[in-house]
Amino acid sequence: MSAQIIDGKQIAASVRGEWKLRAEKLIQSGTTPGLAVIIVGDNPASSIYVRNKVRACSEIGIFSEVHSFPQDAQQQEVLDCIHALNENTHIHGILVQLPLPPHFENNRVITSIAVEKDVDGFHLYNIGALVTGNAHFLPCTPYGVMVMLERHQISIEGQHAVVVGRSNIVGKPMALMLLERGATVTVCTSRTRDLSQFTKQADILIVATGKPRLITAAMVKPGVTVIDVGINRSADGTLCGDVDFEPVKEIAGYITPVPGGVGPMTITMLLCNTILAAERAHAGVNSEFNQDNF
Ligand code: NDP
Repeated sequence: MSAQIIDGKQIAASVRGEWKLRAEKLIQSGTTPGLAVIIVGDNPASSIYVRNKVRACSEIGIFSEVHSFPQDAQQQEVLDCIHALNENTHIHGILVQLPLPPHFENNRVITSIAVEKDVDGFHLYNIGALVTGNAHFLPCTPYGVMVMLERHQISIEGQHAVVVGRSNIVGKPMALMLLERGATVTVCTSRTRDLSQFTKQADILIVATGKPRLITAAMVKPGVTVIDVGINRSADGTLCGDVDFEPVKEIAGYITPVPGGVGPMTITMLLCNTILAAERAHAGVNSEFNQDNF
């Protein structure tokens, strides 16, 4: 029997509907959630992502502003901008669109964002909080995956989750979140010997490699839940994931498509984190986060 499709667009729409109500409530009580996006250089993909984020913000009631810097900008100019945004009470979330140009130090830039405004969840403090099971902001893509699993009531506790990919923005935080929820977690990388011996054991298989159709039908067990984070452009211009969707769909229990799977969830969770940051600021619960402490 063919797998049940996990429809990211539908789940994203329903999550956005719920959080729009929260944003409206905040606005009525005098706080409009605000997001600042910093982009350095003219990477075409980054420009599209930023445009999509700005549009999504306006649809849900978040005020947003974009700070654009040329490719040859000095790191200090960007740091000065972040410091000003940290002090700006109309801005509750700050994100730096990655990648930054090679002459930038990613960690230095990201850790200059006030912890309570780090809506991407990439600040070293927030990563540490996630490791210790006290997450303050969950990184958007793995957060979106967790919401997809929850909305389909796919049980996590006691399940064997196999995460393929160990990037800081997807694979590693994904593994930590699954671990926190009681899964037995295996993380595979490009160095893993005989990938399929691990993927075949997965009850939940999460793939984030950027390698088109890496996971084939022979690599999964019947009934597995397959979450495909990958977004790859095929030679003919169409998008495909890291999973060979059609044949794997015939074996899996649940599967996400590409496009229309994890993608719509990522921006959605950014919106949720921004509204959450604004709610916290409105309630005055951020005083524990003093930048001088980090
Ligand atoms: P990275 O390139 O940072 O990381 C890829 C990871 O995959 C690495 O850890 C690498 O291992 C591993 N890998 C590569 N080849 C193999 C292989 N043959 N077998 C096992 N592991 C392998 O990518 P990201 O994590 O940033 O992104 C992954 C994919 O997800 C991309 O297609 C990206 O476009 C997409 N993406 C989608 C998002 C969404 O919203 N849907 C959001 C973010 C990313 P090693 O470390 O050993 O090199």
